[in-house]
Amino acid sequence: MDLTMDANIAVLGKESVGKSALTVRLLTRRFIGEYGDIQSVYSHSLAVDGREITLNIWDSPYSQDFCVETSLFAKKVRWADGYVLVYSICDRASFNTVCRLVHAIKSARDYLDAGKAPIIIVGNKRDLHHRRTVPSEEGRLLALKTDCPFYEVSAAENYHGVLMVFHGLVGRMRDAKPHA
Ligand code: GDP
Ligand code: MG
Repeated sequence: MDLTMDANIAVLGKESVGKSALTVRLLTRRFIGEYGDIQSVYSHSLAVDGREITLNIWDSPYSQDFCVETSLFAKKVRWADGYVLVYSICDRASFNTVCRLVHAIKSARDYLDAGKAPIIIVGNKRDLHHRRTVPSEEGRLLALKTDCPFYEVSAAENYHGVLMVFHGLVGRMRDAKPHA
């Protein structure tokens, strides 16, 4: 791999799971609390194993339209080299959405002949364990079945966990194209 690398990352998941909180945490190390409906691509540099990696991170509100030809989802699938799929451990429906998204991304990439790309599954809001409705085991099992790394994090309480998610994704991207 080259000494520098540019990677496009799409952060996807149902509304209010903390996509913007995770993204802003990575960029600023801070948790602000309220983010509105951010739709933006951010650039952020990460040092991984002594190498500078520039991540372009696309954070946007959720849309149910998964059409592989016309949807914004298809545009994101095409644009991205890697995906961070987020659910909230307190929101069962958001976990179901991540299950759908894993398969939707894989089949859209097949359809677009885009090859394989790493997907990371993230259970966010770990600090709200008293309200948990999705056991860790379920996240782990989904990850195992779909061959994706899995993390549980709290964008609210822990910067390090969020950083590990993006490091994990970069590691997988490097494995995916070792000679790039
Ligand atoms: P998005 O719609 O997926 O971008 O979700 P946001 O990032 O806007 O977050 C939705 C709400 O969840 C906001 O009120 C955040 O403050 C809150 N939130 C996000 N991450 C966490 C977390 O890790 N723990 C807790 N307790 N709240 C969080
Ligand atoms: Mg958002």
